Parts: sequence; C-alpha cells; structure tokens
Amino acid sequence: MHFDDGDDGKFVDERGYLRFSDSGKLVHRSVAEKQLGRKLEKDEVVHHNNRKKLDNRPQNLTVFASQDEHQAEHEAAGDFTDENFWRW
Ligand SMILES: [Zn+2]
Repeated sequence: MHFDDGDDGKFVDERGYLRFSDSGKLVHRSVAEKQLGRKLEKDEVVHHNNRKKLDNRPQNLTVFASQDEHQAEHEAAGDFTDENFWRW
C-alpha cells in the first residue's frame, strides 16, 4: 500500500493513523472534536467502529470516556485483544 497521499495535507504515522501534515494532530480525534463541538479530554479515546484506522468518517467514530470503556467495547464485541487493541 502506498501511504504518500500527495498534497491533501495529511500523512499516515508509524502506528497507521492519519495525521495533519501541518499540526501533526490525529485526524480522527480532530473529526471527533468537531462532532462533539469541544476538545477531547486527554483520557478520552476515539474508537473506529469498523476497526479501520484510516476510516475517519464521523459515523465511523465513537468517543469513549476512558481506555477501560474502550477496551470493554472490544471485549464485548469479541475482538481479539492484544497490545494493539487500542489502535482501533
Ligand atoms: Zn476501538
């Protein structure tokens, strides 16, 4: 897969997340903040409903208050959980 997405102002970081080239901010967190109409708290986790880290459409994102709640969602869904679970 080719991750150089040209001049749309974003790049994929080493963890597989899309970031804005200028600020380095994570795109999915920015999209979630726009949806919420406020900044995310540090402990809040943005979850990708379809497990695709590059799918940052608002309808694919769910905000959890903590990593514990986020993990519970994956466990309830029966996702394989390893050290990478939080990446979704
Ligand atoms: Zn998740």
